[in-house]
Amino acid sequence: MDCLFCAIINGDIPSNKVYEDDKILAFRDINPQAPVHVLVIPKTHIPSVDGINEENSSVIAHIFETIPKIAKSEGLTSGYRVVSNCGDHACQSVKHLHFHILGGSQMLDRMA
Ligand code: 5GP
Ligand code: ZN
Repeated sequence: MDCLFCAIINGDIPSNKVYEDDKILAFRDINPQAPVHVLVIPKTHIPSVDGINEENSSVIAHIFETIPKIAKSEGLTSGYRVVSNCGDHACQSVKHLHFHILGGSQMLDRMA
């Protein structure tokens, strides 16, 4: 399968890792949209939020258990935003489920 984030998981494409375990990987976005912009991905290929189901959702729980630890290690003491773009209307560009952690400065109230 031709998937950019699977290639990052496999080490075929380098990334700036901030967290890794056997189930998930977190790395810095190549085009940061905030002072801190980290992507958190499952090591299993799930195309988007729309592909989450009863069989694969345990890794999603693990991602959300880990996000506060990553936020703490990144110094996001004043808050942060977690975003997952799903599908065309949301401008999802990489079809491997990922959660953006954005923080480090005051964000706009409006989200869309
Ligand atoms: P999406 O638009 O699908 O929600 O987010 C995809 C994100 O992946 C974008 O923020 C983009 O900057 C990031 N991205 C695309 N290619 C690469 C890459 O090769 N390395 C890293 N670290 N981030 C990437
Ligand atoms: Zn993938």
